Amino acid sequence: MAGLRLGLSHSLAEALPDQYAPAEPTPAPRAHRVAYNTVLATELGWDTAVADHAEALFSGNRLPADAHPIALAYAGHQFGNFVPLLGDGRAILLGERLDSAGRLRDVQLKGAGRTPFSRGGDGRAALGPVLREYLVSEAMHALGIPTTRALAAVLTGEQIHRPQGRVPGAVLTRVASSHLRIGSLQLWSAQGDTIRLKQLADYVLARHYPAAQTTPQPYLSLLEAIIARQAELVAGWQAVGFVHGVMNTDNTSLAGETLDYGPCAFLDTYDPSAVFSSIDRGGRYAYQRQPALMHWNLTRLAETLLPLLDPNPERATALAYTALDTFIPHYETAWHARFRVKLGLSTQQPDDGTLIQEFLALLHASHSDFTQGFLALNAAAQHHTHPLLDAWTQQPNANTWLTRWRDRLSRETDPLSRLQASNPRIIPRNGWVEHALRAATEQLDFEPFHRLLAAVTQPLTEHPAHRDYETPPPAQGRAPYVTFCGT
Ligand code: AMP
Ligand code: MG
Repeated sequence: MAGLRLGLSHSLAEALPDQYAPAEPTPAPRAHRVAYNTVLATELGWDTAVADHAEALFSGNRLPADAHPIALAYAGHQFGNFVPLLGDGRAILLGERLDSAGRLRDVQLKGAGRTPFSRGGDGRAALGPVLREYLVSEAMHALGIPTTRALAAVLTGEQIHRPQGRVPGAVLTRVASSHLRIGSLQLWSAQGDTIRLKQLADYVLARHYPAAQTTPQPYLSLLEAIIARQAELVAGWQAVGFVHGVMNTDNTSLAGETLDYGPCAFLDTYDPSAVFSSIDRGGRYAYQRQPALMHWNLTRLAETLLPLLDPNPERATALAYTALDTFIPHYETAWHARFRVKLGLSTQQPDDGTLIQEFLALLHASHSDFTQGFLALNAAAQHHTHPLLDAWTQQPNANTWLTRWRDRLSRETDPLSRLQASNPRIIPRNGWVEHALRAATEQLDFEPFHRLLAAVTQPLTEHPAHRDYETPPPAQGRAPYVTFCGT
């Protein structure tokens, strides 16, 4: 297999020589393949020769002959505090691959050992978080939300040290439109290096926003386009009850994909103030704060781009504010569109916002499960009985709301199909993710992981074998769910 090639190119390394440091993967003593995404591999145009060598290739043991392994440099605001240099401390970019649809995709190994940016870290990833990212990123893709993808998960055969003790190490192969983040630009703006800032902005324009390149003000158009994509992304998160948990600027992708699944979780019971991450003590990244925090991140992005917007600082600032002001209307349009179809509606009415908000308030007051709540609308539309309907009608305004909503539905064609197509049966519920991760980490039993993966990648399908995953596991209990970052 010496000389195996993956058809990789290296546009970033060629265009941006200062954006990275070379970094070789550290071999894994006993690589063992846990999961391999054949559908994604096919999308990338890779045949069975790649699949046959997946264990060696995606553990970092065999470097493809055409790899140019690097770790990217970036800065970032973490929980509001600026860190001038972070970088890929445990991720190595092998190169880029032009997929069968003509899109350039990054191929990155996460957990393949130390890099020049590792500082005190071991450069490794624990099996649990690797499998969480695999499950949740593939679920997000199946739910129609832009995201990085998971190609492979391989055990390294090593135990690594984490606060909870010794745990199995693993490597995740992540595929992304790119791994550039707001923090990648912040690296240069913090140093006042406008030349490198412009080189990177030009690269982002060419790779991700070619339409913005040909406008009269390409950098302003770039800012506006990123704002629009991020507004749509967060609306997508809200619509499935996803809580990212660590919306730092180094985790905000310039391509508009969900990036970094460290402490993420999903709402079970609808609670807008829900926070799951152990390190998010102030609730900075709570469910309901995600749009505002994305706006905060985009404001940091606008600041980095100021020198490119206009040579006159006042004019540059005015342009930046004008662009930032488009975030809320973009977000609201996207949010209304997402939630309108979740209510089975295709037509727009001036009071849609109220109708949606009142339903969410009803879910909140009745302590309903978010995902089940939207599924119950199917029964409600047909005047069938449903346990959640009984809970709703205990609330003072439930019947008024149901009457108004049914009246709207009666003027729709085929609202039942729309309800079914817009409301997932299956999300990667925290309790089930934990259950699968525990079996994998404690017993190296991957059967629960594969069963859950099969279910969450067909979120709309009603399947007897997946029924359990439609609700939290029975043993979940009432203890609040907590996730841990960077472990
Ligand atoms: P994250 O919390 O995954 O966004 O990571 C924040 C920063 O810490 C990034 O620069 C990571 O590369 C780095 N980092 C996290 N875990 C490790 C590790 N085990 N070894 C080295 N660097 C790490
Ligand atoms: Mg990160």
